[in-house]
Amino acid sequence: MSGLFAAAFLRRIGWDIDVYERSTVELVGRGAGITMHPELLEALQKSGAGTRDLGVKVDKRIAFDRAGRVIGEKYLPQVLTSWDRLQRLLRDTIDPAHYHLGWNFERVEQDGSGVRVHFSGGRVEHGTILVGGDGIRSGVRAAILPDVQPIYAGYYIWRGAPNEADLSRRALNEVFPYFSFFLPPQQQVLCYPIAGLNDDLRPGHRRLNFIWYRVADATLLKQMCVDAHGHQHAYSVPPPLIRKDLIAALRHEGDHVLPPVLNDCLRAIRQPFFTPIYDFIAPRIVSGRVALVGDAASNARPHMGFGVSKAACDAQALANVLAENDDIGKALAAYNQIRQPIGEIIVRHSRKLGTHLGVNLPTDEDRAMHERLQDPGAMMDWIAVPNFLAAYQ
Ligand SMILES: Cc1cc2nc3c(=O)[nH]c(=O)nc-3n(C[C@H](O)[C@H](O)[C@H](O)COP(=O)(O)OP(=O)(O)OC[C@H]3O[C@@H](n4cnc5c(N)ncnc54)[C@H](O)[C@@H]3O)c2cc1C
Repeated sequence: MSGLFAAAFLRRIGWDIDVYERSTVELVGRGAGITMHPELLEALQKSGAGTRDLGVKVDKRIAFDRAGRVIGEKYLPQVLTSWDRLQRLLRDTIDPAHYHLGWNFERVEQDGSGVRVHFSGGRVEHGTILVGGDGIRSGVRAAILPDVQPIYAGYYIWRGAPNEADLSRRALNEVFPYFSFFLPPQQQVLCYPIAGLNDDLRPGHRRLNFIWYRVADATLLKQMCVDAHGHQHAYSVPPPLIRKDLIAALRHEGDHVLPPVLNDCLRAIRQPFFTPIYDFIAPRIVSGRVALVGDAASNARPHMGFGVSKAACDAQALANVLAENDDIGKALAAYNQIRQPIGEIIVRHSRKLGTHLGVNLPTDEDRAMHERLQDPGAMMDWIAVPNFLAAYQ
């Protein structure tokens, strides 16, 4: 997403760009829900991607208790879009001749005037700059900042996106129209509607984004990352290989922990999968002619649903400084000065919201925030709300 945004914005200031994607096939069907923020809307408009058929609008947030009674409400109109929809809009901004699938970045060399980028298979490309938009485990970042590593937050999420058509009648009526919260101690369940496959927004064809935050120490996570064939994975397990005993335990817990209407939603997920939560702050996001954007530059926990918005703003800021400065070194230094501190603020804010889960609360401030967030009303006021950055300006 950050790579596509960078390409779109740089093209608009007259640069020739090429995007190199490791995947050998088009990235479709990822399915995750993305909360819209005003910054993302603006970036979509200004990048030329546009905002057509972005997603599903909800007007209200609600919180359930264990019995399924609504114990809190907050009016907050918000559009919930999806990774697929944004990817498609952005992909259309790039001439297919400049979008290269199956190119795996390996290393970069640079001098004062440009970069020489090496990809698998001995392929080499030259450029004026290299923009690393290659995600949380960025190889570009590893090349310039090898000591910066993502840190496990101490919790993970079970997730899935069941079809609207597979939901029970009560889930359709009581959950699907809203941004729903269920917040037992040290857990969070969040649900909201998103487009269906192929960005289908027709009623009956949409999906529900279902997320269940759970606490697990690093040892337990490591055990979970042993797949159905006994193979140990480093970070997470591809969904089809997740062990059946883990899924059975999840279903069992759903029966005993969730309000019945939310358990209906979990039951409608054919293949739940889990994602461990990591974050990190990089002390700088530029080295010579190499600049990092999006998750490669800094990665916040997903409590604000702001990752794609941050990626878009990084890309926009990069194009702005390059448009304003003829001296590329000065432009990239300005980019670092503008965006590194913002990335850091976003990560720190996400850690603040993560205190809800009660993991690792070293300071009085963390413990006070944890207490404050035990109130479902406070969670609805803080989680994935627009304009949270205004408090830091
Ligand atoms: C559970 C969860 C929920 C989230 N919810 C939201 C939300 O509601 N709203 C939101 O805005 N964000 C959300 N996010 C965050 C969001 O998904 C990321 O911030 C966003 O995808 C970052 O985009 P990116 O382009 O920087 O990285 P990525 O999406 O990771 O893309 C990196 C790309 O680089 C490619 N790549 C990697 N290595 C190489 C290589 N060596 N050579 C070539 N290509 C390579 C990858 O194949 C990939 O296509 C969530 C994240 C998680 C984990």
